[in-house]
Amino acid sequence: MKCYLDYNASAPLLEEVKDVIISTLDIIGNPSSIHYEGREAKKILEESREDVANLVNADNNSVIFTSGATEANNIVVNSFDTIIASNIEHESILNNKNILKVKVNSKGYVDLDFLNNLSYKLKNKKNVLISIMHASNETGILQPVEQVSKVAKKYNIPFHTDAVQAVGRVPVDFKKLDCDFLTISSHKIGGPKGAGALIIKNKKKIKSFIVGGSQEYNLRAGTESLSTIAGFGKAAKSINLKEMNNLKKLRDAFQTELLMENKEIIIIGNQSERLPNTFMFCIPGINSNNILIALDIEGFQVSTGSACSSGKVEPSKTLGAMGLPKNILNSSVRVSLGPYNNLNEAKRFAMAVKKIKNRFLNINQ
Ligand code: PMP
Repeated sequence: MKCYLDYNASAPLLEEVKDVIISTLDIIGNPSSIHYEGREAKKILEESREDVANLVNADNNSVIFTSGATEANNIVVNSFDTIIASNIEHESILNNKNILKVKVNSKGYVDLDFLNNLSYKLKNKKNVLISIMHASNETGILQPVEQVSKVAKKYNIPFHTDAVQAVGRVPVDFKKLDCDFLTISSHKIGGPKGAGALIIKNKKKIKSFIVGGSQEYNLRAGTESLSTIAGFGKAAKSINLKEMNNLKKLRDAFQTELLMENKEIIIIGNQSERLPNTFMFCIPGINSNNILIALDIEGFQVSTGSACSSGKVEPSKTLGAMGLPKNILNSSVRVSLGPYNNLNEAKRFAMAVKKIKNRFLNINQ
């Protein structure tokens, strides 16, 4: 029986989202056309914009639809000359030019003193941005974004947060956080792949890098992918944060079962504030790739935590940034849960890990 435990990589499409996508496939109009069919398409586009805006307490006209979070991050980063970013950001931030990295501490939190000092040094420089993620996709550790926002305000530097993993799992409030830009991805919240949004407080600070028509407030040219965006809107509307209490209990049960069956396992980051659905564990002495593949054979899909866009499985860069020793980062695995997981799977998972561990470590059962 297959058991999907990799929601941070991509979450299954919600049934109600699937229905919305199918129903919008028959809409023939272009949302920019002024005739009846165009207006029908525009209506759906704007309803979806409202649903996404409501999800993060933003104004509707602050939401720019993109092809995903990667594009949203690139738009914001490419609008500035110097980016202050943590060294655990997603590649769509870190693989850009002019990134000044802020280290994280051993608990996985961005070093606020380091951030403060760097921001102070750059306070008179033009076109600087602070970009710190809301939650790590690898460890699930939540960043002190309220404090980061205060540092940004103190030095009058715009603040962007990549909230891809936090949205739908913890409260994310664009206005309360008082940030300038925020990134969301559809496929992490039960929507389709290929949609995302950049939430923008002041559009004048953004430079469009796709040239063409005046869609999305002149900031993202190209006809909007209506069905995908409609699915994204529906997923945003379907989110119920109250369900996260149960998911947290389930995550904790996964950890407890795992530790009960496997005393030598280390749970990484459990002393830090984390997303309710995520945990990383390590079996010292067994390589992450081997655990991942062996678990896949047993029917459990997990991840090593690093974005494996090339299909390559690499040691976690986030754990390296936290200063954890090589034997831990080379043998760590991420489990990320969602609404379709259950307690029975927690027990089966713990047993599967035990079997794999005993085989690799040559322990007689
Ligand atoms: N930022 C973070 C923190 C992510 O986890 C991801 C997806 N792994 C992205 C950005 C990119 O999202 P998308 O797949 O929508 O481009």
